Amino acid sequence: MNINGYTRTCGLIGNPVEHTMSPAIHNTLAQAMGENLVYVPFRVQKDGLLAAIEGAYALNLQGLNITVPYKSQVIPCLKEIDPLARLIGAVNTLVYTEGGYKGYNTDMPGLYRAMCEDGVGMEGENILILGAGGAARAVAILAAKKGAGQIILFNRTLEKANKVAEEVNAMEGKALVRALTLEDYGTLPKGEKYLAIQATNVGMFPDVEKAVIEEEEFYKRVHTGYDLIFNPAETLFMKRVRENGGKAFGGLKMLLYQGIIAYELWTGRQVDEILAQKAYSKMKKAMGIR
Ligand code: NAP
Repeated sequence: MNINGYTRTCGLIGNPVEHTMSPAIHNTLAQAMGENLVYVPFRVQKDGLLAAIEGAYALNLQGLNITVPYKSQVIPCLKEIDPLARLIGAVNTLVYTEGGYKGYNTDMPGLYRAMCEDGVGMEGENILILGAGGAARAVAILAAKKGAGQIILFNRTLEKANKVAEEVNAMEGKALVRALTLEDYGTLPKGEKYLAIQATNVGMFPDVEKAVIEEEEFYKRVHTGYDLIFNPAETLFMKRVRENGGKAFGGLKMLLYQGIIAYELWTGRQVDEILAQKAYSKMKKAMGIR
């Protein structure tokens, strides 16, 4: 690309950022759409977040992605926050506006877009969520907003799952979500099939031989499994779902669409499906997936 005086810069703030896939998404989109924009990763130390955001604004950076561990910490640094991001309590995209950055959460709309493309719906579904961290909480909110039937959170630390369940139930004004420990899956009625969303860190590279629940009995109750982990491309969770006759999907498409939605916010332009597939192929190639 030709970098000149009109080139706009976007980037990623996090720590670490070295293994990010985001430059592959955004630079592919910018090049294909003839947008004079570059995207670069910035490693920011934990006491440097506010200085980094203020510096980025002073340097006229068009937009930023925010990743681990700053998705919640960044909120006080913003001029404005989108209502969905406020509800979720996590921001992964900043957009330059007059007077400061506006924060959005594109992770959950990204997951929803990926699920729609894969033909997996949430409306009326009984959903099992594994985990009760930031991602699991956001998935529970998304599922509630999309009209899920019942939502059951399974987590190693029951108090955390209870807290998320209470918060989402308070938001919805009804007892939609309940919390159980990982071992409690046996209390689910036999013969009932669920959509299961894996939102823990367990099974992520290099611990690819692990799943947060490994017993076959659990997977017999799953008609579709969605793992938010994207490395490896097929997690043990996904393998177990498939072995027991279910459909399984990984987190790479969610990663793609959270990026595409951010790119659309920065540029005001829509990314078409052909281009989305091109960026997806680039990501798969970068991960060594055919
Ligand atoms: P987090 O807030 O740190 O939460 C981690 C969750 O994993 C907690 O529920 C924790 O349980 C559980 N956990 C961790 N180690 C465990 C173990 N050894 N045994 C049982 N449970 C364990 O992390 P997060 O931000 O929610 O992220 C969760 C996952 O989502 C990560 O794998 C991340 O890569 C993925 N993610 C993917 C995308 C994407 O675009 N594809 C976007 C966002 C997140 P406790 O509460 O008991 O500690």
